[in-house]
Amino acid sequence: MPALNSNLRINGDRLWDSLMEMAKIGPGIAGGNNRQTLTDEDAEGRALFQKWCEASGCTMGLDQMGNMFATRPGSDPEALPVYVGSHLDTQPTGGKYDGILGVLGGLEIIKTLNDLNIKTKHPIVVTNWTNEEGTRYAPPMLASGVFGGVHTQEWAYDRVDADGKRFGDELVRIGWRGDEKVGERKMHAFFELHIEQGPILEAENKDIGVVTHGQGLSWTEITIIGKDSHTGSTPMHMRKNAGLAMARILENVDEIALSHAPHAVGAAGHIDVYPNSRNFIPGKVIFTVDLRSPELAVIDDMEQRLRSGAKKICDDMGLEVSFEKVGGFDPVTFNEKCVSSIRNAAERMGYSHMNIISGAGHDACWINGVAPSAMVMCPCVDGLSHNEAEDISKEWAVAGADVLMHAVIETAEILT
Ligand SMILES: [Zn+2]
Repeated sequence: MPALNSNLRINGDRLWDSLMEMAKIGPGIAGGNNRQTLTDEDAEGRALFQKWCEASGCTMGLDQMGNMFATRPGSDPEALPVYVGSHLDTQPTGGKYDGILGVLGGLEIIKTLNDLNIKTKHPIVVTNWTNEEGTRYAPPMLASGVFGGVHTQEWAYDRVDADGKRFGDELVRIGWRGDEKVGERKMHAFFELHIEQGPILEAENKDIGVVTHGQGLSWTEITIIGKDSHTGSTPMHMRKNAGLAMARILENVDEIALSHAPHAVGAAGHIDVYPNSRNFIPGKVIFTVDLRSPELAVIDDMEQRLRSGAKKICDDMGLEVSFEKVGGFDPVTFNEKCVSSIRNAAERMGYSHMNIISGAGHDACWINGVAPSAMVMCPCVDGLSHNEAEDISKEWAVAGADVLMHAVIETAEILT
């Protein structure tokens, strides 16, 4: 296999133009995008992507979840393809790069190989995974989850949006349900380029994040029952203040997460207080504690300490407490060989890099269960994402796609 030349680079202007062109479909109201899954705009974005892939000599495959697979053949018909991609769907007030960079970065690899007449032994397949965002149809990463065997297709089809429309029906309506059985494709490897959606790379002034792990997540919903009473006329010693118990528990969540620094995190983003009135002491609170870590043992420990700590706080205050685990997934360790190929690519091309843990879920997290996978991250301004103001520099996008290309074609075994 010839050595990879450090001068081999993608065409940055062309990649950037394709990002701007795709962003014209489903524009948001503040400079970003609203191209939610299985909408007419999603269909339009898919059609544009297909047109570009076919113009680059690829053949398009489509499975029964609407996942798209654009194939550039390899020299060996027996060799399993190397897959690369992400998602074209956006949040309702989403940005131009979250997901899209990973798909169009993959397509830019094909265009560059075509320009230079470079062949690989393994085919390369650029993928658009359906409904990564999960806003219209929960949960996120729905179609890659079906591909990875995490969900059944029937269950996915039965998800409904806020208007009661079924996922399966909407997929047919927009014309993007294929015949191919989901998850039948075998992969040599899978690579995903994504913006960080966090502030670390920018703060550390690094071009590239080499993603070694994906955070595991645990959601525990806690209900505390006290007694509603007047804030003015109830003596302090006679109060059963569920809000105060929650405050103490959240203080504890902070301490628990910090005890597993630097990677563990914990907080409550969802809080309902009853009756939620200015002059009433809350008699009931329901809130969800979100705990994350790249290590399963740490998540287990945090969950257990959360429950025992909350129980003690409520017992001491004479309050009832109950717990329900309402969500979660295990941490992901990405494939060592794929991760190394990303790190070596950054090194070879002179891009600054650091190891990073993905704090958010991504399609690669599910695909890693069925094929060796890894992720490249590039910085985004102020760590902002899921927001129309989401922004990256062209240089960051180019660095990410360059590194992605080297990792992909090294794994696909470059021939000429
Ligand atoms: Zn994304």
